[in-house]
Amino acid sequence: IPALEVTDLRKTYATGVQALKGITLSVQPGDFFALLGPNGAGKSTLIGILSSLVNSSGGSARVFGVDIHSHRSEAMRLIGLVPQEINFNQFEKPFDICVNQAGFYGVSRNEARQRAERYLKELSLWDKAQMPSRTLSGGMKRRLMIARAMMNEPRLLILDEPTAGVDIEVRRSMWKFITGINEAGTTVILTTHYLEEAEQLCRNIAIIDKGTIIENTAMKLLLAKL
Ligand code: ADP
Ligand code: ADP
Repeated sequence: IPALEVTDLRKTYATGVQALKGITLSVQPGDFFALLGPNGAGKSTLIGILSSLVNSSGGSARVFGVDIHSHRSEAMRLIGLVPQEINFNQFEKPFDICVNQAGFYGVSRNEARQRAERYLKELSLWDKAQMPSRTLSGGMKRRLMIARAMMNEPRLLILDEPTAGVDIEVRRSMWKFITGINEAGTTVILTTHYLEEAEQLCRNIAIIDKGTIIENTAMKLLLAKL
């Protein structure tokens, strides 16, 4: 079964904007998949629907066979989400942010602490674990978002423009971590508007423009065409 199977997914916002005009795509388990498109293409809307933050207007989506509409909480357990905007409580400490997130998924307190330590260390945030997170740099905050997304040890990790506005050094360390997660078996979907970023990391790619998938292919085949 695919890690993600999206069928004729549609979204029309209350404003009348048709952000998704019937998207169909599938992502295989273990893949490192790029969703590329210009600003306004519909990437965040698609991710919003997959992560249950946005209601779809039609169509379906399944995560490892689990329908996100009819079996929402079961599907959410399989997904880790790194949204574009920093949305943790900046007065909380990174360690607590991670432990609380794990608690939200019903992970035991002890296991939650172990996971928080493991992922904060892997993302080079352990020395900041007990600082108010508002004191972290922009790049550290982005890495904290990734650590938090790992707390339920998701089978599918979705990152929405994770490296936007991040300098090249931090970007490289994020890529390294995400690549490691993928090599360990987690399916990764990353949105970006930089082809170079997709090219460096991803095996397969879908290009979305004005709410429509205009290309869906192996990265190698796309590059051969350009
Ligand atoms: P949903 O249908 O998912 O509940 P809505 O259509 O109710 O979402 O969106 C709420 C409101 O947010 C919209 O009516 C709009 O005014 C505003 N909004 C938020 N982001 C944007 C955006 N990127 N472009 C235009 N309007 C936006
Ligand atoms: P991307 O992530 O590719 O930049 P989005 O999914 O954010 O694209 O936006 C797709 C389209 O939907 C845009 O025209 C955007 O203005 C519109 N849009 C996004 N969110 C909302 C919202 N909450 N309400 C109304 N329109 C929205």
